[in-house]
Amino acid sequence: MQSTPAPFTTYGESLIRKYGGKTYKLTVSGGQTCPTRDGTFGPRKGWGGCSFCDVHGSASYFANLRKELPVRMQMEAAASAIKKRFKAEHFVAYFQSYTTTHEEIAEFKVRYDEALTFPGVVRLAVGTRPDCLPDEVLAVLGSYTDRVDVQLELGVQSLEDPVLDFFERGHDSQAALDALERALAYAQKLREQGKPKELDVSAHLILGAPMETNEGLIHTARTFNRLGVNGVKLHHLHVLKKTKLEKRFKTGDFALLTLEDYFARAALFLRHLDANIVIHRTHGLAPHPEELVGPAWSTQKIHPVELFKKWMHERGWRQGDLAGQK
Ligand code: SF4
Repeated sequence: MQSTPAPFTTYGESLIRKYGGKTYKLTVSGGQTCPTRDGTFGPRKGWGGCSFCDVHGSASYFANLRKELPVRMQMEAAASAIKKRFKAEHFVAYFQSYTTTHEEIAEFKVRYDEALTFPGVVRLAVGTRPDCLPDEVLAVLGSYTDRVDVQLELGVQSLEDPVLDFFERGHDSQAALDALERALAYAQKLREQGKPKELDVSAHLILGAPMETNEGLIHTARTFNRLGVNGVKLHHLHVLKKTKLEKRFKTGDFALLTLEDYFARAALFLRHLDANIVIHRTHGLAPHPEELVGPAWSTQKIHPVELFKKWMHERGWRQGDLAGQK
């Protein structure tokens, strides 16, 4: 199927521009847990994780299957098919599941080091929470910018505190802002030091909570513009089995967005977001489709993106076309 040009700045195209060819993510599982599950920095032991998160810690389905393997073997397994099929040469080593910096620095550094020995890795991507990003962790990430670009993917989820409460994140919006500001200031310092590679600071958001507001979405976009975040990854709110949200959803506590309602929210956010900010993704995909409660459109990998692009084009809307508005 011919893909519609995106009315927003896509991650895939930004990587092609940077590395001169299509660049593929190899998702690696580090086998960690996270503070809201083990109670280390989160509210308390037994908190049981964020309300939307399943037992796999937001891992991709295949990464989860391979999580017991050494890092290089996970990457080899992930790369073999795409190397054959697409002659892939450039890769992003992507540590996504759970909170990838939530353990002793020496332990996760060994994994990052191993990942960077995989031929063709041009970028190290690391997902973590705002409260798991002390300066020592930033320094480790920055140390790799002598060799590869580093992409920090911060689980902001929302800048509206009632939404963060609904998600049971165990941190507030100020914690996310502090982490973003520190990371971006550090990235600037690395540039001033003349590091050959970049520290990219991106934010992950979940749109569609029942108490989310249009004003909050616009404020979030403007805040990201002001701070100068490099990228944003959007996920719609979906409900997975065996999560806290499943129980609440089944009692009728809240409703999920239809596809079109989600498009309207995502578009509102994107239209106020600076067009230079890279959009990693405009919607999520249920990582384990058999464990999805809803909405049903969460399992369609390609169509929601294609429909969304057409939906934006039909309205003449683009990322950033309202970014100058006060
Ligand atoms: S979303 Fe991240 S921090 Fe929250 S429970 Fe899942 S793995 Fe832990």
